[in-house]
Amino acid sequence: MSTTQATILIVDDIAANRLVLERMVRAHGHQSVSTDHGRAAIELMQLHNFDMVLLDIMMPGMNGYDVLTELKDHPTLQHVPVVVVSALNDVESVARCVLLGAVDYLFKPVDRILLAARIEACLVRKRLRDREQAAYMAVRDANTAKSEFISLVSHELKNPLTAIRGYADMMQYGTFGPIVGEQADCLSAISELVGHMGTLLSDLSDLSLIEVGQLRLELAAVLLDDVVAMARKSVQRSVSEKGQQFHMVIPTDLPQLWADHVRVRQILTNLLSNASKYTPAGGSITFSARQTHGNMIEIAVTDSGIGISAADQIHIFEKFFRSPDTAVRQERGTGLGLNITQLLVESHGGKIWFESILNHGTTFYVTLPSAERHLAVSESFMKVMS
Ligand code: ADP
Repeated sequence: MSTTQATILIVDDIAANRLVLERMVRAHGHQSVSTDHGRAAIELMQLHNFDMVLLDIMMPGMNGYDVLTELKDHPTLQHVPVVVVSALNDVESVARCVLLGAVDYLFKPVDRILLAARIEACLVRKRLRDREQAAYMAVRDANTAKSEFISLVSHELKNPLTAIRGYADMMQYGTFGPIVGEQADCLSAISELVGHMGTLLSDLSDLSLIEVGQLRLELAAVLLDDVVAMARKSVQRSVSEKGQQFHMVIPTDLPQLWADHVRVRQILTNLLSNASKYTPAGGSITFSARQTHGNMIEIAVTDSGIGISAADQIHIFEKFFRSPDTAVRQERGTGLGLNITQLLVESHGGKIWFESILNHGTTFYVTLPSAERHLAVSESFMKVMS
């Protein structure tokens, strides 16, 4: 007799067969529930967490193959072990059942010892799977709790940071009296560091929103020229200080994007900021865009900078990755920008990739849907519905 008790579902349209199996199952110390129909079996499985199923193949209505086919893609039932019990002792039907996901098979008349062995094997398998599932759920819950905590903390820290920056700016502008000696340098350092902390908090908050699936995109038609102009403003200081050339190649007839304005700005700012950061003084940055055949807009940001080594290329989109290269380390950064950029691009249904030659430069490519594509997809959807 088995040490652990299982609950086994028996599916057979013939009452005498069910009775034989029920007796055998009980003789081994397990419980059984029986049904004579495939559909009823699936409904019972949805109500109860069975440890295994003993399934007949030839049944009227929904037969064993149909049951296996439905279970195969079922989100919660696909892992319940099914042992096929059949009078069909030909290899073909057994092979078909195994291909459909049956874990094992027994031929009628069922041998008592073989049945006991199959039940034990299924129990071990099921218990392992249940444990894996429980561990996965625990990790997922802990991750969600962590993301929610980060989101809350970054939100709470943003307000005081904005106030600190505001006071520092007011002092710098002389609102509270003249600024003397090194005070001006200290105040601008405060502003810069607070700005950096603000960016870090926004990145962490975005990341946690995306991880818990709570990022909401406000999709609308977006004019690329407008967003590039805004993104360019945010990197203008670095570009001018380093004396970099900035070129823009956007066709006048380029369709609008179908995207979230704020998030596209974030994507472009990040790519332009990296291009400027990782390009030495006097280098060049080119922003270009074109429409692709699939009615997507392909954006390219090319720089003549330090490039990315082959070893670094495989890690570039990983969270917190920063190249160990000293030229990278002397720039401020968190290693979150490209990871968030990739998640944002993909949440728009787009793609991001790059080409880079060490010491020569890098091009990052991003595709985003055009408003025309959105219109075409909506129209074909309306046609299907009507
Ligand atoms: P950060 O810039 O804050 O370090 P990112 O996630 O934006 O983080 O980029 C990750 C890493 O990818 C950078 O640290 C750098 O090593 C590399 N990288 C990104 N963009 C470029 C670029 N245009 N040229 C060279 N290296 C780059």
